Amino acid sequence: MDRVKELVMSVEDKVIEYRRSFHKYPEPGWTEFRTASVVVDTLQNLGYEVRYGKDAVTKEDMMGVPSDEELAVFMERAVSQGANPEIVKNMEGGLTGVIAELKCGEGPTFAFRFDMDSNDIDEAKDDKHRPYREGFSSVNEKAMHACGHDGHTAMGLGLAEVLSNMKDDIKGTIRLIFQPGEEGVRGARAMVSAGAVDGVDYIIGAHIGFQSKKVGDIICGTEGFLATTKLDIKFKGIPAHAAAAPEEGRNALLAAATTAINLHAITRHGKGTSRINVGILNAGQGRNVIPPNAILKIETRGLTSEIDDFMHESARRVVEGAAKMYDVDYDIKIVGGTKSGYSSPEMIQIIKEVAQEMDYFKNITENSDFGAAEDYSHFMSIVQQNGGIGTYLQIGANMTAGHHDFYFDFDESVLASGVELMTRTALKVLG
Ligand SMILES: [Zn+2]
Repeated sequence: MDRVKELVMSVEDKVIEYRRSFHKYPEPGWTEFRTASVVVDTLQNLGYEVRYGKDAVTKEDMMGVPSDEELAVFMERAVSQGANPEIVKNMEGGLTGVIAELKCGEGPTFAFRFDMDSNDIDEAKDDKHRPYREGFSSVNEKAMHACGHDGHTAMGLGLAEVLSNMKDDIKGTIRLIFQPGEEGVRGARAMVSAGAVDGVDYIIGAHIGFQSKKVGDIICGTEGFLATTKLDIKFKGIPAHAAAAPEEGRNALLAAATTAINLHAITRHGKGTSRINVGILNAGQGRNVIPPNAILKIETRGLTSEIDDFMHESARRVVEGAAKMYDVDYDIKIVGGTKSGYSSPEMIQIIKEVAQEMDYFKNITENSDFGAAEDYSHFMSIVQQNGGIGTYLQIGANMTAGHHDFYFDFDESVLASGVELMTRTALKVLG
């Protein structure tokens, strides 16, 4: 057995333990205080140079952040669930991103991105659901790892340990990026602007499952990440008696309704796919009151960032026009968003060769069309803009239900094989 395999096998049980512990204590976007504290502690103990808190996340670029009151509750909960209080304190305000480096002499920088956040749903409490049966299902209300990010973070820690034992075989720098708020595509921007991918030559992001649905499957590259922007739009009018003095009111509901219809009248873009959706429209106070308030939650998407920008700018114009028409005030807040992206062909080839060298992967696919958004594409597209290369992998695992389903669980054998694949890729490039 070779050294990589030996080292991976020696950490496998630990990685599964990490995964189950993250699974038991899931934390949605910007509240990953316990998770990130475990990551910081573990990486520091392994000898990595670790940046976190304000050194890893730019506050002004965070999107869709819970209120300070909510964050305070989650910080306290994290400490009561075993987080290091000092580390948690340095993450005040939801600054839960972590960047760690292992410097192994002169050479390129190879980055790996792992997402840490959970979904905000309740987990199934049912004996047919293994995490519940075996006692590691979520103990946090309205939070569950139903996407596999618990596994991603665990793999990141396993990879960190294996690579720290192979320092002498590496020429260059390993950078591990643990990001908050992948769900709702809210976290990457604030880490990129804090320098997370500065100087990166190679980058990999991976997801368990997704379009790779069986153990032994792997998709080496992904294209067609849609760029997206998530917007909250508020209209503020004036209430008035609907019969006695309607002329004194300013109708926010009608402004919102006009906006909803006309957002769908934005012209298509000739350069490729675009999408728009009004997901929520809430307005009004009572039957006989001119509605003074309305909120719309919408999203735009585009095959390229240019197309998404076009959709998003057009949407702003529609909102402005509707507000003018009904003489109401409005406020538009960006609560999430990420860039489009595609994997670099050279990087796909590297992954393919590594996967072929391992006996674990039986069904190797080069590339797939994603057709959705992933916050990782923000990291990857910046690396590519700066002359580096990157890819996004989908590592197959048998799953008990679809992603984001409250019965979601996956075959944990994927964890060790993911660590092995990433280790071998790092060695192939920096060895
Ligand atoms: Zn996910």
